[in-house]
Amino acid sequence: ATPAEEKDLVIIGGGVAGYVAAIKAGQEGLKVACIEKRGALGGTCLNVGCIPSKSLLNNSHLYHQILHDTKNRGIEVGEVKLNLEQMMKAKDTSVAGLTKGVEFLFKKNNVEYIKGTGAFADEHTIAVNLVDGGETSVRGKNIIIATGSEATPFPGLNIDEKKVVTSTGAIALKAVPKKMLVIGGGIIGLEMGSVWSRLGAEVTVVEFLGQIGGPGMDAEISKSIQKILGKQGMKFKLNTKVVKGDDSGDIVKINVEAAKGGKEETLEADVVLVAIGRRPYTAGLGLENIGLEVDKRGRIVIDQEYRTKLPHIRVIGDCTFGPMLAHKAEEEAVAAVEFITKNYGHVNYNAIPSVMYTHPEVAWVGQSEAEVKEAGIKYKTGTFPFSANSRAKTNLDTDGMVKFVADAETDRILGIHIVGPNAGEMIAEGTLALEYGASTEDVGRTSHAHPTLSEAFKEAAMATYGKAIHY
Ligand code: FAD
Ligand code: NAD
Repeated sequence: ATPAEEKDLVIIGGGVAGYVAAIKAGQEGLKVACIEKRGALGGTCLNVGCIPSKSLLNNSHLYHQILHDTKNRGIEVGEVKLNLEQMMKAKDTSVAGLTKGVEFLFKKNNVEYIKGTGAFADEHTIAVNLVDGGETSVRGKNIIIATGSEATPFPGLNIDEKKVVTSTGAIALKAVPKKMLVIGGGIIGLEMGSVWSRLGAEVTVVEFLGQIGGPGMDAEISKSIQKILGKQGMKFKLNTKVVKGDDSGDIVKINVEAAKGGKEETLEADVVLVAIGRRPYTAGLGLENIGLEVDKRGRIVIDQEYRTKLPHIRVIGDCTFGPMLAHKAEEEAVAAVEFITKNYGHVNYNAIPSVMYTHPEVAWVGQSEAEVKEAGIKYKTGTFPFSANSRAKTNLDTDGMVKFVADAETDRILGIHIVGPNAGEMIAEGTLALEYGASTEDVGRTSHAHPTLSEAFKEAAMATYGKAIHY
């Protein structure tokens, strides 16, 4: 056999982590190859995650708004009909455009795109099973593993992506289910639950914990969004665990009971969405061939510079530590490549925003009030409701608030939590403030255009060190 070609860097996985690392490496002049097995670049995020879910969230919101929220705005509409097939097509168009766009960027930055499944043959060689048949191999002076994550299955439920679905099935249902049961009230459960609830399904969310929103969401914000989603028609069963399920018939039966033990209840649904978290994906990668280990939760173990115990092999994105977010993967990709080319890279894990794209959106950055309290820090908070914000009032979209958590002595911002219209865009200002070590007074004394939703952000900051003007 011909010897494998040697690259400066070989990346396994063409998701957000892998493709960003590949482009960055190309820009830095490295000879780089990226191996991806799904036949399209962009990974979970572009193909079955962030992008298709946001397309459905946007269009289902429009549909729901046209149905329920036009009359009072002086807009009379005629018959409104859902064309689910077209809604799915619109989603597919966005996905295809973006994944092709990444392919274009690969060409532009001299990245070799190898379509296939990679596995370690030895510490520097990756054997690739090509998508179009046949095999090849490639050697890397440096290697980055960016193989991402997969949905955690629920024991005893057989995922067929039709009746019992993960997010992948939930973004591609052929019809609106009459009843949908969501196991897990985290981000996926609430985003996808919102989509189908808006399109007409009766959605019930079963959550093990006492609050929805998954890890990190501030309790006050979580309560607020639960109330708002409840008004939209979603039902919640908190402090409830699923004991077992029966998916043998057309209707799926799910047995639940109080988390602390108690009476069992059987819930029925035509579609069950399993959204209890995701786990790192490293199957078939041949880590055992080179003696690399994963921890109890399946994450590949690395040091501060993303290095495994074989220092030329680095790991980034969902398959290692930290929040499973596309923009976190992206930051790590740039940092990992900079460690290779410059010996220095940095990601500030304290300033990674989270956004839940429900309506209204929920967004936060930094620590929640509970986290600050638990750390024993003396803190203060300030809030401002959108009901007192002029722009939200003109938009007839006033649910929600902005909340700051700051150090009581220094006024330094520790966390910012928003539930409200456009929270996902607004949190960028909060992230920048946190990144620059700003105080709430820095934000409160910065001019914000009038009338904008961002004024609620400024006034919540003012309420933290002094008083808001408009509330
Ligand atoms: P992935 O995107 O999973 O990419 C890994 C890639 O590696 C895959 O394409 C896989 O095919 C490939 N691969 C695996 N093994 C091999 C192998 N041996 N050889 C070759 N290729 C291989 N995050 C956000 O920040 N915002 C959002 O709005 C958001 N929405 C989401 C919605 C849903 C429904 C889901 C499921 C996730 C969402 N996420 C969101 C999370 C986001 O998708 C992930 O954090 C992100 O995709 C992680 O990127 P990654 O590159 O680490 O992994
Ligand atoms: P998650 O961790 O956000 O939420 C899972 C929820 O399920 C938690 O609230 C947990 O308490 C609950 N749960 C776990 N086991 C349960 C059980 N047996 N019964 C009832 N409830 C149970 O996970 P997810 O929603 O599946 O999302 C997975 C990952 O994808 C997350 O890391 C998330 O960050 C990412 N994601 C991000 C976005 C976004 O940024 N907008 C969107 C979708 C997904």
